[in-house]
Amino acid sequence: MLKLVDKLQERFDTAMANVFTLSPTEICNYKCFYCFNKSAPPPLPNTKIAPPQEIVKSVDSLSNCVFVNLSGGGEPMLYPDTLEISNMLVEHGHWLGISTNFAIHDWAKYLEHIPPENVVLISASYHSPSEETAPLKKQFFHKAQWTRDHGYNTSIKYIAHPRRIRSGQLQKSQEEFRRAGFRMLILPYRGPYEGKSYPAAFTDKEREIILDGMDRPFLFDPSTTFKGRVCDSGCRMGWIYRHRTPHVVRCWYGESLGTIGDVQWQKTPQTCTTDVCPSRIYMREIGMIQGEPDLRYYFWRDRHLNNHETLNWLSKKHGIGS
Ligand code: SF4
Ligand code: SF4
Repeated sequence: MLKLVDKLQERFDTAMANVFTLSPTEICNYKCFYCFNKSAPPPLPNTKIAPPQEIVKSVDSLSNCVFVNLSGGGEPMLYPDTLEISNMLVEHGHWLGISTNFAIHDWAKYLEHIPPENVVLISASYHSPSEETAPLKKQFFHKAQWTRDHGYNTSIKYIAHPRRIRSGQLQKSQEEFRRAGFRMLILPYRGPYEGKSYPAAFTDKEREIILDGMDRPFLFDPSTTFKGRVCDSGCRMGWIYRHRTPHVVRCWYGESLGTIGDVQWQKTPQTCTTDVCPSRIYMREIGMIQGEPDLRYYFWRDRHLNNHETLNWLSKKHGIGS
């Protein structure tokens, strides 16, 4: 494991660690009660957004691309070409970050041509259907253990919805994963619940529970924005997001950089023009917002070493906290 961490440091030390995110589908096999997708436009049919070669060509055109993030908005494993695209990315020397709810039946087959050395992280999201349904729960734990035992850096993600905290479910699941040797990383719920708006409405006690299970600082104040700040996304980050198909965009809400397979990367960092950043903390930690500390390596190191060192380091060095 340390070997990959060292390789990551080498890349972060020598390159501008660029990131490409691929969110190929909004289709999902689950219907979680807290899904942010509910407020999104209805899913498009699960047709292909572009030939795999064109998608990979877009990634290749981003110089110094450190890793490709296969992420959700739906379940990325349900996109028809995910296997082919992943294999091609590995053949082209890219590293992957994979988010999944472990929905696909043949998970082992998916990983067949993707060696652990090419995977920065497998983020397995433990969603409410898995938590509340015995066979799905068993299946989830089995896949998580299998993945870890085969040498993949595996982390468990959990959405902290107020209902999951107040019922004690979060704490129960946290303990179950702890016993299975996993650290369950918490992501705070964002959205409405019982007439209140979250994450701002979390109580002090709930914030304590949430922060204790996070591997990064979190801003509960939703008014934080980077609008008007200079941001490197568009130079160092691109996104294929299904609702914006067939374009590569600067970020989730950002401008188009051209069509898939014909991307015109911005030559210099541009001002952010949107009110909502796809992930305020994430963009800051990966060094996209100019003038903010570049925290990339430290977060990845923590995830590999499975500790809280970064939070301590951050509060000492940069005074960043919740
Ligand atoms: S697994 Fe994710 S995308 Fe699917 S319904 Fe649940 S929260 Fe939404
Ligand atoms: S929304 Fe976030 S990632 Fe996009 S341009 Fe603005 S600051 Fe950058």
